[in-house]
Amino acid sequence: MFLLNNKTAVVTGGGSGIGQEVCNVLAAQGATVYVLDLNAEHAHATAAAIENNGGSAKAIAIDVTDQAAMKKTYEAIEKIHLMVNCAGISHIGNAINTSEADFEKIFHVNVRGVYNSLFAGIPVMQKTGGGAIVNISSIVAKVGVADRFAYSMSKGAVHAMTLSVAKDFIKDGIRCNSISPGRVHTPFVDGFLKKNYPGQEPEMFEKLSKTQPIGRMGKPVEIAHQVLYLCSDEASFITGSDYSIDGGFTTLNS
Ligand code: NAP
Repeated sequence: MFLLNNKTAVVTGGGSGIGQEVCNVLAAQGATVYVLDLNAEHAHATAAAIENNGGSAKAIAIDVTDQAAMKKTYEAIEKIHLMVNCAGISHIGNAINTSEADFEKIFHVNVRGVYNSLFAGIPVMQKTGGGAIVNISSIVAKVGVADRFAYSMSKGAVHAMTLSVAKDFIKDGIRCNSISPGRVHTPFVDGFLKKNYPGQEPEMFEKLSKTQPIGRMGKPVEIAHQVLYLCSDEASFITGSDYSIDGGFTTLNS
């Protein structure tokens, strides 16, 4: 079950955190994985580790906000069966202290970046004969989390784009789903703590861990396994769905 032999996957943000673990898991199941990341060094390290383990991977240093580059890259890959949109950035702020520049930056990467990947990749997936797309949203698209105004906006948009794509391309054999993680321990969280709570990182890490009723943050591989399921033929009846993987954050925090 869950084998991906002869499938080609593109993973944005594949050089770090959740995206990196998605690359590892998809490659271990037999897919050829294109690791797309802004950080060339991280993309190359991820692809090299997969190749060293006997898998097939190629690194591509790219900015998802560059539509022309995304189009050129996906067209050159020729066949795409699986697309996982993980690249994203965080932001802290509410509606009255989020600057226009920060709002636009979050929109640019988290919304336009996903749109660019879909815009560039769906025509290739149509030619390939269909496939599966998984977008990484967040629980902030479903519940109010303090000081996540712009970030929540962006993840709500990812959720909505997932439904739109699932509807429009069902006829092409393309399934599209999203995953809404709770807090997952990745460099994203470490960087966020360093930037927003300098000197208080251990206490804040503990505090954020406990906001999950299960008592800890998620592990990237726990998200990657759900991505694998949604990409696999075993999930052939699933499209237009969102899965919370959040240690009970959205359902048990009363
Ligand atoms: P991460 O470790 O920071 O990985 C994200 C990767 O995306 C990084 O390698 C980053 O490169 C890359 N990236 C950023 N901007 C890019 C761009 N314009 N073009 C190409 N690549 C770009 O983060 P993560 O925690 O794995 O998060 C992955 C996704 O899950 C994000 O969309 C995030 O919003 C979502 N998510 C995370 C959590 C969590 O708690 N970790 C919870 C819910 C949802 P640089 O390092 O160079 O910036």
